Amino acid sequence: MNEKQCTKCGETYLAEVKFFPQDKRGRSGLSSRCRVCHRAQMLEYGQTEGGKASRRARDQRYKQSEKGKAKQQEWEKSEKSKATRFKYNQTEKGQLRRRKYDQSEGGKASQKAKNRRYKQSEKGKVAIRKHKGSERSKMLNVVRMQKRRARKMNLANDYTTEDFLRGIKHFGECCAYCSVHISECKKLHMDHYIPLNDPSCPGTVCGNIVPACQSCNSSKGDRDAVDWVQGKFPERANAISEKIEVFLMADGAAF
Ligand SMILES: [Zn+2]
Ligand SMILES: [Zn+2]
Repeated sequence: MNEKQCTKCGETYLAEVKFFPQDKRGRSGLSSRCRVCHRAQMLEYGQTEGGKASRRARDQRYKQSEKGKAKQQEWEKSEKSKATRFKYNQTEKGQLRRRKYDQSEGGKASQKAKNRRYKQSEKGKVAIRKHKGSERSKMLNVVRMQKRRARKMNLANDYTTEDFLRGIKHFGECCAYCSVHISECKKLHMDHYIPLNDPSCPGTVCGNIVPACQSCNSSKGDRDAVDWVQGKFPERANAISEKIEVFLMADGAAF
């Protein structure tokens, strides 16, 4: 058997593919470097920019090949990939990526399409029927309507349903003014503490909205809250106004 010396480390091995990787360019059909040196050289190349780029290009080609696509689909359907994705989504990196995607054009479009599909599905139709007439849907409409009013007047309007729910909870599900419970007045309205028509109104924002029953809401109208409370509840006026202002001050930066 022939022997062959590695040009790199100088070791001598049998001239076989077991010791020297194949290389068709060489005279012997074997690489001039032994497997140990060849491997070291490959690893080193892999760390260089050129090596990294070349690997990326190879991966890319593979992903676009029929074989690569089939493999990818097979992987995505597997239980293991679901578990991996789930785990990744729980990590900080995964969540950051998710948020970034959700805010991208592609992410928004995909979310819209998904919503549309859901609305047209049997399950979605049932959910919509259930939602219509629900407390939450009434509340959403109340918030939307008030925000629209503020928007039309070019006032800030970033109040959300969650904000309103927080306010309702704060006042024990009661009108902030007369304290009637939601169960007795059907619905709590969003009252603009400083009315939208008032030049100093900050808009439909945290710090200017309290829950109020229909009766108080329409009776107060565009009047100054403190004056109106004084006239409507003379004995408890100070307590009511103070309670509301403490809440509004904590709820928003508007005051
Ligand atoms: Zn060698
Ligand atoms: Zn009331």
